Amino acid sequence: MDVSHLLGPLNEAQRQAVTAPLAPTLVLAGAGSGKTRVLTHRVAWLVEVEHVSPHGILAVTFTNKAAGEMRARIEAQLGMPSAPLWIGTFHGIAHRLLRTHWREAGLPQGFSILDAEDQQRLVKRLVRGLGLDEARWVPREVTWFINSQKDEGLRPKQVVDDGDPTRRQLIRLYEAYEEACRRNGVVDFAELLLRSYELWREVPGLAEHYRARFGHVLVDEFQDTNTIQYAWMKALVGSTSLPFVVGDDDQSIYRWRGARVENLQQFRKDFPGVLLFRLEQNYRSTGNILAAANAIISNNSGRIGKKLWTSDGKGERIRLYRGFNERDEAEFVVNRIREWVSRGGQRRDNAILYRSNAQSRVFEEYLLASRIPYRVYGGLRFFERQEIKDALAYLRLVANRDDDASFERVVNLPTRGVGARTLEVLRAHAKTHGTSLWAAATPCAEELGARAAGCLQAFLALVDRLDADTRGLPLHEQVDHVIQASGLVAHYQKEKADKGEARVENLEELVSAARGYAPEDGELPPLMSFLSHAVLESGEGQAEEWEDCVQMMTLHTAKGLEFPVVYLCGLEDGLFPHQRSVTDLQGLEEERRLCYVGTTRAMRQLYLTYAEQRRMHGIDSYGAPSRFIAEIPAELVEEVRPKVQVSRPAYVPPQRGSGSGFGTRTVASSRFVDDSPGSLKLGQRVRHPKFGDGVVLSVEGQGPNGRVQVNFERQGTKWLMMGYAHLETV
Ligand code: ATP
Ligand code: MG
Repeated sequence: MDVSHLLGPLNEAQRQAVTAPLAPTLVLAGAGSGKTRVLTHRVAWLVEVEHVSPHGILAVTFTNKAAGEMRARIEAQLGMPSAPLWIGTFHGIAHRLLRTHWREAGLPQGFSILDAEDQQRLVKRLVRGLGLDEARWVPREVTWFINSQKDEGLRPKQVVDDGDPTRRQLIRLYEAYEEACRRNGVVDFAELLLRSYELWREVPGLAEHYRARFGHVLVDEFQDTNTIQYAWMKALVGSTSLPFVVGDDDQSIYRWRGARVENLQQFRKDFPGVLLFRLEQNYRSTGNILAAANAIISNNSGRIGKKLWTSDGKGERIRLYRGFNERDEAEFVVNRIREWVSRGGQRRDNAILYRSNAQSRVFEEYLLASRIPYRVYGGLRFFERQEIKDALAYLRLVANRDDDASFERVVNLPTRGVGARTLEVLRAHAKTHGTSLWAAATPCAEELGARAAGCLQAFLALVDRLDADTRGLPLHEQVDHVIQASGLVAHYQKEKADKGEARVENLEELVSAARGYAPEDGELPPLMSFLSHAVLESGEGQAEEWEDCVQMMTLHTAKGLEFPVVYLCGLEDGLFPHQRSVTDLQGLEEERRLCYVGTTRAMRQLYLTYAEQRRMHGIDSYGAPSRFIAEIPAELVEEVRPKVQVSRPAYVPPQRGSGSGFGTRTVASSRFVDDSPGSLKLGQRVRHPKFGDGVVLSVEGQGPNGRVQVNFERQGTKWLMMGYAHLETV
């Protein structure tokens, strides 16, 4: 039998792993060494050489994107559709099982799935329903408690009650939560896994059935399995099936969600006679990129330790760009992408990776302005995020009381006693009289009863007050005031921990967005203009899956993927490594693994960028360059500096406080400029009919289609087309 197509594209170590005898197998190896390739070839080997039926194979990984790629690779290998195989994420596969065996699992046939938000909302209702103080029993933390128990495989009865009253109350909440889920016929993400695990444990015939069916269970990214995922896998494998798992302890990045890198060791204990394979050749990255990644990760302790090498040349050096602020950073990245594309490269070759979701906004803005399609993976685009929509709804009501959608969205957010019945009455009244909900609110008072009417009036008064208090303020102050005074910030602050914190950060980021916003038209009041801008941005821009587009995602989402060009952005201490982790050694080491994951995504070129000054979450910070940068040997790195020193008059920034500018002081000194200044020079003062006076920051191209960037004293930085700008020199 000719197996050259299977083994040809493999090195000797990979070949040994792929053709390993039928026994439990562990492939432990560094980034880009071909673990996923080995796993997919193993599947083909099992089918073609060991004559395993495709029905008998189950392959699991962590993200949907990774599962999609795995499926594609397997189909390419087998040269046939992979439908008979089960390939998916842990959650996806557990879900599939529960849909098939809903009866045995004790679920209603049409059970629905609670996402993280729904889950938290349910917990919150329970906390309230039990008459508990939300400040003490923060829904976010209660939810976290419940999920961690489930991730450990524990039902309320199994959670150890050590007599501690707090713990006891949490257990009671967990119980109440389970009861509510049962009543509503819903399951959350953690429940999918736990429930299907229990299904195997408690319905023996079923486990037998699946063990007999899936003789081969393959797991990618094994280092990030948590307790229940591991137990689930073990239950499926039993003593008859064969596990084939691949992983890298240096890429364990979900400890904060219960991942247990120890499972790598546990696996060797639980399956005696495990065949262990190590792969050492990296095929993904250039020598320089690999050397940088190796240097970074060598600062961690307690590693299993591996040597990774490449036969590839050193390649280009790693480029380090110091932006003077986050906008400069984004502009630099977008310009580089533009150059890549203009030289015939694809947009999808470029990945922008960042530590936290809020960082995507500024990149989105510059990509949109440059009309470069992009896609944000594993997260919503900025203006589509729940908390942003909440804030925009308040702002919309301030601008237009009759906006029913906004009214409905926030009338009871934060909760103020406007219940479903009140809304029903309102809707009916509005419908009969053909008015908006707002207009219906006052005449409805009698139908509603004193208490409900009072709550509703409080809301109307709040919106009126927001309007009165913000009139005439600069846009960003309007936004800031509204997110505070509406109670939204406090509301999300209560959710504490990760999610709530991220939401508050995003709200603050909205203030930054408003501050950096310069209306294109100048006709509409700034608030109206900003609101329509937000709608338009959320409605378009996100490219379709098949379209050639720039890839944007957090470092966590990038695991397992690879891109010719990687921009690792926001490398500042406090941002990356994240503030929460800098004082905690374990946390810091996890951040370092995340940095290792990020750098090893790059195939040909790696850019590291940071900003001296960053306005994020509405405040300016001056973070030191990330300590991870200093961990890379200097000879591997090349600092990117302005290409050409353009004739630039000694430029004294206007002494007007920070105003609307973005670090005006440093703008002109670290700029990339075409040496085609045309009639305008950097630092030149100009006047625009609508935007007023400003200073030229940058000039691109020539003639009427050339673009000029001006920092206007009152309106902030804007790009203008030379042909339409009507600029006068001052
Ligand atoms: P990660 O740890 O990031 O998940 P990995 O170990 O799973 O990485 P793969 O994604 O399987 O690595 O492989 C990295 C890259 O190297 C892929 O583009 C893959 O096609 C290529 N590659 C792997 N092995 C070989 C080989 N023997 N010859 C040529 N290319 C290879
Ligand atoms: Mg992989």
